[in-house]
Amino acid sequence: MLELTNLIGGRRRGAAGSIPVVDPARGDTIALCPDSSARDIDDAVRAAAGAFAAWAGAPAAHRAALMNRLADLIDRDAERLAHLESLNTGKPIALARAVDIPRSSDNLRFFAGAILHDHTEAFETTGAVRAGLQSAAAINTVLRRPRGVAGLISPWNLPLYLLTWKLAPAIATGNTAVCKPSEVTPMTADALAGLIVEAGFPDGVINIVLGRGEPCGSALVSHPDVPAISFTGSTRVGQWIGSTAGAMLKRVSLELGGKNPFLIFADADLPAAARTLCRAAFTNQGQICLCASRALVHRSVFEQVRDDVVKLARELVPPGDGRWPQIDGRWPQADGRGHQPPPIAINPQDDACRFGVLSSSAHADKVQGLIDAARSQGATVHLGGERRGCFVPPTILSGLSPSSDIEQTEVFGPVLSMTPFDDDDEAVRLATCTQYGLAAVVFTSSLARAHALPARLHHGIVWVNTWMSRDLRTPFGGHRHSGVGREGGAEALKFFTEPTTVCIAVDGPARR
Ligand code: NAD
Repeated sequence: MLELTNLIGGRRRGAAGSIPVVDPARGDTIALCPDSSARDIDDAVRAAAGAFAAWAGAPAAHRAALMNRLADLIDRDAERLAHLESLNTGKPIALARAVDIPRSSDNLRFFAGAILHDHTEAFETTGAVRAGLQSAAAINTVLRRPRGVAGLISPWNLPLYLLTWKLAPAIATGNTAVCKPSEVTPMTADALAGLIVEAGFPDGVINIVLGRGEPCGSALVSHPDVPAISFTGSTRVGQWIGSTAGAMLKRVSLELGGKNPFLIFADADLPAAARTLCRAAFTNQGQICLCASRALVHRSVFEQVRDDVVKLARELVPPGDGRWPQIDGRWPQADGRGHQPPPIAINPQDDACRFGVLSSSAHADKVQGLIDAARSQGATVHLGGERRGCFVPPTILSGLSPSSDIEQTEVFGPVLSMTPFDDDDEAVRLATCTQYGLAAVVFTSSLARAHALPARLHHGIVWVNTWMSRDLRTPFGGHRHSGVGREGGAEALKFFTEPTTVCIAVDGPARR
């Protein structure tokens, strides 16, 4: 059995216990992940603290060169990494090849470049006489210095992509890092640890500690020598991290859950809207924080859009005997002797696979529970609705009240609920009736609406006539319960540095 290891102070080492890592498509245990303790975290923080002064003092060009080398190694091993990501998460390998792995090396290259082009602000103060007092003319500059050891905690849905999204700005700015990836999908973090050693990073600059949220992640959050925590994950855990780190006056960035609305107006390019909605709802089996989970469609085109999306979503899973539900959303029932229909023949590692399985059976249980609750609350199921193992088919519902569980709770799975609206005000009311505010999509041909609507939606990003187009220079984060703070581009460089304003008098000391 493959045994994954931590990277602490430049050494690969295990922990006292281990956690099975499961291939969710087949249910097999594929590796053992260290079940690291608070002690392992403490060792990693010490290693990172010991490496800090030299790393922070190294020329930015040196840090950037090592990051680019790591990016090159990720590209060299792209096929192996894509395979590991697909095997461990259940995502189609084509998606891992096209998105997860290239974006991981892009993250490193982007911030390696950004740090070389970063600049310091300067403010020129002219002298003035007020109430008989003359103030000196001065130049103010803002020095930004790395914070120290950064704690980076990432989730299971985009394992390497989100780990590198945090790691790259942290180390580019001169911090050292202790990373705590998800224990559910640690395979590519373990592979990255090998590449970090191969790239030649100084010992202790990047530490990777694999283990559970409790006690491993929580020990990182509450460690007194970790002044900054960047967390991506659920709102529930984010609230705990916010209160714990807040009481210690740490800097925290929280990228949390969403319940993203996708608005389609009658004047939109409807075929393009339906295609994009299908992609937005079901890419990575709906397990991207930016996936759309609520379609709000103008009543005059509601049925047309719904039927188009059902048709497109059905095509994501190849048809086969007993493998696809009937139009009422039910799977074939067990026969009289209790035999279940055959399991779904989904192979995420097949090049042609477009829709895989959920990343764990615990998560599939949760998603199925919410679908069942929606049924009992009166939902009409147009497609899908019943899992087999970790396979939950694309599921499309309608007829739910905005206050129902599935309209309010983050499902984080392939479940789209559809609701008609009559006018712009009702669309905005429905779009903003949850506690979340991460991402919204608007499809319209009206320039006036495209201009006016985003500010009324109160979401961190609003896409107009597109979805998932991301420019790494733009701020990224959520409103309300979708997060605190922003990452991306200059925002990430700011988060990982502490500013000191220096005011230098340029015409001698201030005098009366
Ligand atoms: P999670 O909150 O359960 O876990 C995220 C990470 O936190 C894991 O590494 C986990 O081990 C760790 N963790 C758990 N408890 C902890 C604790 N008490 N202290 C410290 N660390 C702890 O989330 P998940 O189930 O892995 O991921 C899915 C969630 O992530 C969804 O809610 C999704 O919306 C969110 N997400 C948000 C974004 C974003 O950018 N806003 C991106 C991807 C995923």
